[in-house]
Amino acid sequence: MILKGKSVFSGIAIGKLSIYKQADNQVKRQKIKDTKQEVQRFLNAKEKAKIQLMELYKKALKEVGEVNAAIFEVHQMMLDDLDYIESVTNMIDSQEVNAEFAVATTGDNFSDMFEAMDDDYMKARAADVKDISNRVITILHGSDTSDILGDEQVILLADDLAPSETVQLDKSKVLSFVTRHGSTNSHTAILARTMNIPALIGVEFLATANGKMGIVDGYKGELIVDPDAAVLAEYQEKKKEEEDKKRLLLELKGKENVTLDGRKINLYANIGGVADVANALSNDAGGIGLFRSEFLYLEAEDYPTEETQFTAYKTVAENMAGKKVIIRTLDIGADKQVDYFNLEKEENPAMGYRAIRICLQQKEIFKTQLRAIYRASFYGTISIMFPMIISIAEVKQIKEIIKEVKEELSKSGIPFKECEIGVMIETPAAVMISDLLAKEVDFFSIGTNDLTQYTLAIDRQNPKLDNIYDSHHEAILRMIKMVVDQGHKENCWVGICGELGADITLTERFLEMGVDELSVSPSMILRVRDCIRKIGLS
Ligand code: PEP
Ligand code: MG
Repeated sequence: MILKGKSVFSGIAIGKLSIYKQADNQVKRQKIKDTKQEVQRFLNAKEKAKIQLMELYKKALKEVGEVNAAIFEVHQMMLDDLDYIESVTNMIDSQEVNAEFAVATTGDNFSDMFEAMDDDYMKARAADVKDISNRVITILHGSDTSDILGDEQVILLADDLAPSETVQLDKSKVLSFVTRHGSTNSHTAILARTMNIPALIGVEFLATANGKMGIVDGYKGELIVDPDAAVLAEYQEKKKEEEDKKRLLLELKGKENVTLDGRKINLYANIGGVADVANALSNDAGGIGLFRSEFLYLEAEDYPTEETQFTAYKTVAENMAGKKVIIRTLDIGADKQVDYFNLEKEENPAMGYRAIRICLQQKEIFKTQLRAIYRASFYGTISIMFPMIISIAEVKQIKEIIKEVKEELSKSGIPFKECEIGVMIETPAAVMISDLLAKEVDFFSIGTNDLTQYTLAIDRQNPKLDNIYDSHHEAILRMIKMVVDQGHKENCWVGICGELGADITLTERFLEMGVDELSVSPSMILRVRDCIRKIGLS
């Protein structure tokens, strides 16, 4: 079966499909017409649950011995309990409800019944009956996290994935992301680019795809479920060709980012944390152009301490061995929510309390991060940039806080180096005052993802608007040119760190405009270098 979607990163992935179990796995009551088929669905799920339990029993037998493994045998028996089966099937038949609902209700009823018994052994069965019911519901939902946690690499299918969910995934197990929702610039898409794996959005897959073999064609934007042998062989061949191409690109490693007529540009990497540095280095990044520091906060359960942050920044600086590392200060809010910040729900989060706005109001959080960055500066070449800037007043306030931080460090005898200071240009306001901002800072980094969102008044997260979210819009290109010109008048260098920086259809245009640096996903560095080396400006 071929399902159409939209590709957000090209490439081919071949592997087992696994549906990500969303946190919201609630059971809803639904009216069912074909109750016979629904009963069969339940019976199939029950059998699958028994197989899972058998596997668990065998595993437990080896690891924890017979006495402890016995519970999985008990669970298997409970699933064959006639009263239990009859209760579920009868409810489906007589009330014309979905299997999930019948299983959940039966689970609750039986559990209450056991709970009310005097016998302690029977009382304890209350939790077991809930457990087996949950197992069956999970299977009926078509979700099975055990695949994700297993040894096998999978093509991950999900409704959508929030940044807080993707940070928890064992990424070495993911061959590709396929989501029903999400947009080209959602963070799942950005993550896929960083990981250099194909990703599709807008794919209406069925729950029955779970566990089947699948192919993601990131060139055509297709998910092929359960391909036949001929299609599989064709794609295996394509994948091999793709890998050969990648090897060719690797030959560009160590070469300069220089056009045929000698024009050079810096090519840096965007990273989300320490773990991405290896990828940046193996793709020959000249530096880190955007370290999205908010991922340190997204990964944590509480505010990351100065020490935790210091260690992360220091490790990145040291591993980059003197190459420039541009750390962007905390950029949460909008699509990046962190529970412990307790941010209020907003009508309009993209335009709300986020990024530098939080940092300037909750100064202690900001100072902790700046102290960590300055302490780490001693171990490499660190630059700092600030997100969502709209005014000179903000930059002045930031500089005051930096001054305080440096004074405190000096007083405590803690060594640090001077850091280049820059701002992200990702609001139309910042573009329009770029002449003034340039007098205040050392560099600009243009965040085209948000700049497009705010300039075109298009929510970057809204999949319905994906077709008109156009970073090639003349307004955006003129803004980039304007920022480069204004920056250069004041000796302020200018880079692009939004996704547009990696768009090779625009690389020549960026060079003509005089852009000094492009910061792209590590996996895109060599492709952009290849493009630059073929350009011959006259
Ligand atoms: C941008 O907005 O272009 C950017 C680089 O920042 P983020 O995608 O993290 O918002
Ligand atoms: Mg941004």
